[in-house]
Amino acid sequence: MKDNKNVVEQTLAIIKPDGIKNAIKIIEMIYNEGLKIEKYEVRMLDEEILKEHYAHIVDKPFYPKLENYMLSSEVVLMILEGVNAVDKLRNLMGPTDSTKAQKGTIRGEFGTDITYNAIHGSDSKENAEIEINRFFRQKQKRI
Ligand code: UDP
Ligand code: MG
Repeated sequence: MKDNKNVVEQTLAIIKPDGIKNAIKIIEMIYNEGLKIEKYEVRMLDEEILKEHYAHIVDKPFYPKLENYMLSSEVVLMILEGVNAVDKLRNLMGPTDSTKAQKGTIRGEFGTDITYNAIHGSDSKENAEIEINRFFRQKQKRI
C-alpha cells in the first residue's frame, strides 16, 4: 500500500484564458484520469478574487502580468471529484513551467511558458477546500 489516501475527494481546477480553446481536450484528459466534474461555471474573474487566490505571489514582480492574463477572457471553474483528486490533477497538469512539462500533461500539451500554462489546480486538500469555497460559495457568503 503506497499510502492511505485512496479516498474520494474534491479539488478545484481553473481552465485559464489560454486553455479555453482546448477546453474539450483538457476535460477529456481529466475524465481519462478517473476524475469527474461535480460542478462547473464559465465566467470572468475580477482583480479582487485574483489577489485573494494568488495571495502567495501578489507581491512578485510578475504579478501584474499574471493578473492581466487571468483577466483576458472568461475561465472555466470546475470542482473535480475522484480518488486522490488533488494529486491526480496536479500530476496531470505537469509543473508550473510549461516548457518543462512532459508531453501528455495538460501544460505540456497546451501551455506556453511559466505564466501561460493553461490550467490551475489546487496544491493540497486544505487549499482545495478553501478554493472551492472561494470560487463557488463566496457570493452567498457576502449577502
Ligand atoms: N507564475 C508566473 N511566473 C512565475 C511563477 C508563477 O507567471 O515565476 C504564474 C503561473 O501562471 C502559475 C501561477 O502564477 O500557474 C501560480 O503560481 P504557483 O507557484 O502557485 O504555480 P502552480 O501552483 O499554478 O503550478
Ligand atoms: Mg499554486
